[in-house]
Amino acid sequence: MSAALLVVGSIALDSVATPFGNTADAPGGSAVFFSAAGAILHAPVQVVGVVGADYPLDALKALEARGVDLAGVEQMPGESFRWKAKYSYDLSSRETLETRLGVFAQFRPKLPPKFRDARYLFLGNIDPELQLCVLDQVKDPALVACDTMNYWIHSKRDLLLELLRHIDILMVNDSEARELSGDWNIYRAAHWILARGPKLTVIKQGEHGALLVHPDSVFKVPAYPLQEVFDPTGAGDAFAGGFMAHLASTGDLSPSSLRRAMVYGAALGSFAVEAFGVQGLAVVTAADVRARVRAFKELVRFEVEADPP
Ligand code: AMP
Repeated sequence: MSAALLVVGSIALDSVATPFGNTADAPGGSAVFFSAAGAILHAPVQVVGVVGADYPLDALKALEARGVDLAGVEQMPGESFRWKAKYSYDLSSRETLETRLGVFAQFRPKLPPKFRDARYLFLGNIDPELQLCVLDQVKDPALVACDTMNYWIHSKRDLLLELLRHIDILMVNDSEARELSGDWNIYRAAHWILARGPKLTVIKQGEHGALLVHPDSVFKVPAYPLQEVFDPTGAGDAFAGGFMAHLASTGDLSPSSLRRAMVYGAALGSFAVEAFGVQGLAVVTAADVRARVRAFKELVRFEVEADPP
């Protein structure tokens, strides 16, 4: 069996309004988008999370059918996590209208024994207290990456800073990097993060792609040029799923593999935004992803003219 990839994150019911339509209580959440994307490229993807009594379990069964291991998902009495948001007309920004933690407020994850051997760990967007609790239970991870959101930056800043000391990669979007660091310049913000523990910072920039920032270098991947974008929700988690699944499936953490992982992430992010909710990812195959990765290569390929004699 190849090295396991484990994710902890929200398993949510999302109500999202975009200029193209609305969803109400649609299955989503960071762990769901991450595992739907990651499972296209790698098995097993192990999920840790909690759902309430009201969660449509069929949505999770669909993930299971695609090779996602749900042994770490608990069902508790009470309401599922709910998130409500509205996007701007150009989809470049969104406003969170409501976050209801529901059963996540009481959840204390206890990993099934087989999950403790996971080598690749993604601490998806959720309370940093739960992220730390999961990190403590994994014996010997080869790579730990972590995401967060403005909600936690404001409400649990100290714990988040504690978490930064124990992870390899922080993966956040540009506005989160700015809020966390208090610096508007995105490169300075990335270095502010590097100074607090992580070896690498990944900054997701929506339609402008993503940056991989190392203390001595920066790599940029563009966003795939799509003429139809329906719902950006989950793009960041799908990006993380593609990024981590590529690394877990190759076992290669060299600088060039990390750059390739950025392109896999961007490819999965692009599939996620082409449909509402998580369904867009359900029909994507590994061959589709590879074809899109090749298209990225063409997108950024150019020759430098020979030096004048
Ligand atoms: P993204 O578009 O990649 O930032 O992810 C959006 C997903 O994150 C949605 O499916 C939400 O359910 C989930 N989400 C939103 N706010 C939070 C939060 N405060 N904690 C955990 N998950 C959240």
